[in-house]
Amino acid sequence: MQVYLDNASTTKMSKAAIAAMTPVFEEVYGNPSSLHTMGQRAKEVLEEARATVAKCLGANANEIYFTSGGSEADNQAIVSAGKIGARKGKKHIITTAFEHHAVLHTLKKLEQEGFEVEYLPVGRAGNITAKQVEAAIREDTCLVTTMIANNEIGSILPIAEIGKVCREKKVLFHTDAVQGVGHIPVNVDEMNIDMLSLSAHKFHGPKGVGVLYAKKGVVLSNIIEGGAQERGKRAGTENVAGVVGLAAALKEATEGLEVNMKKISALRDRLIAGLLPIPHSVLNGDKNSRLPGNVHFCFEGIEGESLLLLLDEYGVEGSSGSACTSGSLDPSHVLLAIGHPHEIAHGSLRLTLSEYTTEKEIDYAIEVVRNVVERLRAMSPIWRDKVSGKKPFIL
Ligand SMILES: *Cc1c(COP(=O)(O)O)cnc(C)c1O
Repeated sequence: MQVYLDNASTTKMSKAAIAAMTPVFEEVYGNPSSLHTMGQRAKEVLEEARATVAKCLGANANEIYFTSGGSEADNQAIVSAGKIGARKGKKHIITTAFEHHAVLHTLKKLEQEGFEVEYLPVGRAGNITAKQVEAAIREDTCLVTTMIANNEIGSILPIAEIGKVCREKKVLFHTDAVQGVGHIPVNVDEMNIDMLSLSAHKFHGPKGVGVLYAKKGVVLSNIIEGGAQERGKRAGTENVAGVVGLAAALKEATEGLEVNMKKISALRDRLIAGLLPIPHSVLNGDKNSRLPGNVHFCFEGIEGESLLLLLDEYGVEGSSGSACTSGSLDPSHVLLAIGHPHEIAHGSLRLTLSEYTTEKEIDYAIEVVRNVVERLRAMSPIWRDKVSGKKPFIL
């Protein structure tokens, strides 16, 4: 049995998204900048997709900029806000300690340019409050950037409340909504969001295409220079098929949102209940405010990489956290941010579900994870020391 439980890394494309893209490859292959009929047809489907995306987010079509994905959108949003701030002499930015690297590494660059970045602590529960944001805002704050939901531990942040605070204090507010869009309700208008990043491949669309939403009046700076595509804010011939696939996937996810949230969170709770009895382990993330498809545990005495490889042998495909840190030996900055020591952070397992996940798959995964954790512990000298009392248990 093969059970794909790594949907926070990427998802399988939906049939609707593939069906929407195929005719674009075959029949609408023009360059949207070309004046002939084929070019104008491409332009039409591009603008149709833009309108669809805008409608799903509660935005206007002229506030939607297509990018190469979530990372590019995050980069452009933050760099733009930095430029706007610097012009007014405002160089203070507020974020959280557990943002995605696309946000954190862009902020690091701004720090080198003289910006001061404040990283709000997320606590053991793995979340922040709007009050924390409010208390951190200063006269010279030019940007608040907080993710809508954490990609590793699944916490959903109080974005509407944070947005309200930022709007009242007249501070630009960006949210990396890559894990939220298509999974939980997101509306830029109701949530007072000025800039938002999303990525198609996280909600059953194609890889390599995303959106930066920028509210009317927010002046974007270019990351990619060249032609006048995307109203001069993002050069390069448009990924027309990708954009059409993104719009189709987003429309499908938005229409099915309520049903899927219910179905997926029931399976999530079944998986959590099945893994909780494993001794010396902890469920990470916000217990109440949690993505419908996220399950994240740390198991003491387990090395995350070995766990993943052995699970894979039984067909269970999970992750240690974020795809971006796998392969490096550094423990996840998210798990350190919620206060785990390195030893515990190394024993992490993230299993993320989608609407295609079945109850049968969940029950199989529970059995496999339980067995594999037991087997790895039985082989571990550190575990033996803990059991015999030579070393203390942490969890
Ligand atoms: C996946 C992800 C990104 C990056 O999106 P890409 O389209 O892969 O560049 C950014 N932020 C979060 C929270 C993500 O989960």
